[in-house]
Amino acid sequence: MTALLSDIDQLRAGFSGDVLSPADEPYESARMVHNGAIDRRPGLITRCRSTADVVDAVTFAREHGMEVSVRGGGHNVAGRAVTDGGLMIDLSPMRGIHVDARTRTVGAQGGVTWREYNRAAHVHGLATTGGTVSTTGIAGLTLGGGVGWLMGTQGLAIDNLLSVEVVTADGTVRTVGEHDEPDLFWAMRGAGANFGVATWFEYRAHPQATVVGGLTAYPLEDAEDVLAVYRDAMVNASDELSAFYVLTHAPDGSGTKLVVVVTCHLGDQATADRELAPLRSAGTVLMDTVGPMPYPAVNMLLDDGFPRGARNYWKSGFVEAVDGDLAPRMVDAFRRSPSIMSGVLLEHYHGAATRVPTTATAYPHREPGFNMVIAGEWLAPEDDDANRRWVRSLFGALASHLGDASYVNYLDADDLQRTRAAYGPNWDRLVELKQRWDPDNAFHHNHNIAPGR
Ligand SMILES: Cc1cc2nc3c(=O)[nH]c(=O)nc-3n(C[C@H](O)[C@H](O)[C@H](O)COP(=O)(O)OP(=O)(O)OC[C@H]3O[C@@H](n4cnc5c(N)ncnc54)[C@H](O)[C@@H]3O)c2cc1C
Repeated sequence: MTALLSDIDQLRAGFSGDVLSPADEPYESARMVHNGAIDRRPGLITRCRSTADVVDAVTFAREHGMEVSVRGGGHNVAGRAVTDGGLMIDLSPMRGIHVDARTRTVGAQGGVTWREYNRAAHVHGLATTGGTVSTTGIAGLTLGGGVGWLMGTQGLAIDNLLSVEVVTADGTVRTVGEHDEPDLFWAMRGAGANFGVATWFEYRAHPQATVVGGLTAYPLEDAEDVLAVYRDAMVNASDELSAFYVLTHAPDGSGTKLVVVVTCHLGDQATADRELAPLRSAGTVLMDTVGPMPYPAVNMLLDDGFPRGARNYWKSGFVEAVDGDLAPRMVDAFRRSPSIMSGVLLEHYHGAATRVPTTATAYPHREPGFNMVIAGEWLAPEDDDANRRWVRSLFGALASHLGDASYVNYLDADDLQRTRAAYGPNWDRLVELKQRWDPDNAFHHNHNIAPGR
């Protein structure tokens, strides 16, 4: 331990950021992530300010046999950003962004959130597909695929990724892209957390200053009718229309259960009005906030529903068909939700995101279709069991409607066995690449792809 303490002092001496041990004052807040149910205690937290800090942290962990975890935005409900006892590489101080309006490219460091990214790009009238909740990190979201309001016209976040600077397990810094280490670049686009620490992302951005979007709320009694309208609208949607169907609760704390359609249209007002009309008149309208807004605003519409520190437990899966008894089962189970913060959400993938071949990136889900997220969310630790039970029972009740496939970024901590199905036909290539780039599985505190198996 004495040797280790002097080694830590040596690490600190050259570090631009902070090296926190449990005795240091900011340690307690630094170890917490978005999901308040994650309560792990890293042996060390390296709050990196530069790529050189990340190299030193990766090297230190390797030389001292410490488990590594990597924190980008810290938003993932599975909480894989935090290790118990090991070394947590925290990129949250790395918030630099550079927008080149001339080439329509945006470079951003690994600790940037989508709120910061959207704000920086928006002043140039530009935007890139990113998270629909603005507090999410660009890193974890992009490295797993990255779905968002712009995916119909621009594809996923990874479809706009031009290059990534990554620190690999041997402590080397590489900038990978279509022409530089293309295999590693392929793996970073969907399975990136397994292959290194991404310190800098270079994205393509597109003109998209404003959108037409908002929320339309209906009573829960209308849920089945609204779902039928939503399904038909999405199956026939243009690339410019995206929408969520959400069973949720009124934000006033009354516990009133609602069905809400959240929409975002990227076209002009007249086209948006026409395409959004069915979704805004699918039942008895209790509230309708749809209108023109700056693009960053549509990415903040849902923020209040996901406060930092609330406890989360999620299940998700792609829906085989939105028909049969899916709607009554969903609504029936939703009525029994023990928390007024929980919800069930359907999102639809179509357009540019689905015109990319399945094997073109490590992220494989390129078929048009619906994805379901059962988002259990509550505040009190004593309610953990009831809420987790509810999420599992709803997921079980809908199992016959869901395939094996799932989006890795929505998997929870007890879904590690679903990782293989999350990568579908790309799994074998990923295992081979993992063997090449991380043979000792240094980056395993994630939804892991073990090398050579
Ligand atoms: C409320 C909410 C809304 C969401 N909305 C969306 C959405 O609209 N679209 C969507 O696609 N997803 C969405 N997600 C899922 C989101 O993509 C994942 O939670 C994602 O992992 C978050 O990234 P992060 O950097 O904040 O997470 P973290 O918890 O920091 O990291 C997640 C994983 O990525 C790894 N990682 C993080 N940073 C790096 C890095 N720089 N280099 C290497 N590995 C790294 C971590 O080790 C961990 O395994 C949402 C999640 C929540 C909780």
